[in-house]
Amino acid sequence: MAIKHSRKRARRWLLNEKRRERRLNGYPDNWPAPSQKQLRIFGEVSYSFYLRTKYWRKVRSFIIRRDGNKCACCGSAEKLEVHHKFYRGRGRELPKDLVTWCSDCHGQHHDAEKERNRPMWQR
Ligand SMILES: [Zn+2]
Ligand SMILES: [Zn+2]
Repeated sequence: MAIKHSRKRARRWLLNEKRRERRLNGYPDNWPAPSQKQLRIFGEVSYSFYLRTKYWRKVRSFIIRRDGNKCACCGSAEKLEVHHKFYRGRGRELPKDLVTWCSDCHGQHHDAEKERNRPMWQR
C-alpha cells in the first residue's frame, strides 16, 4: 500500500516537472514537447518522414483544434493542413509558429511564393 502510494506521488512529481520544463521552453501544458531522442531523430530523417511521425501528427491536431477545426484564411473545414509561419527547426515548433489553412489557401499561398524559391520545409 505504501509503495503504491509513493509511486503515485512520484508519477505526479514527474508530470509536474515535465510541465515546468515545457513552460520554460514556451510550450503550453498540453503541448507534445519532444524528447531529446526525438529531436535527434528528426534531424536525421527526411522532411516527408518527419511529417508522418507521431510527434508531428500530435502537433498538427493540436493546432487544428486550437484554430477551431477550420481554415484561418477562408473558414473552410475541409482538407485542413498546418503551415509553418516561422520555422525554428523540426520538433522545435511553437504554437505561434503554426497556422491551420485548407489545402486551397495553403496551395495559393505557396504558389505565390514559389518564385522566391523557398526551401522545401516551408512549402
Ligand atoms: Zn482556406
Ligand atoms: Zn506551408
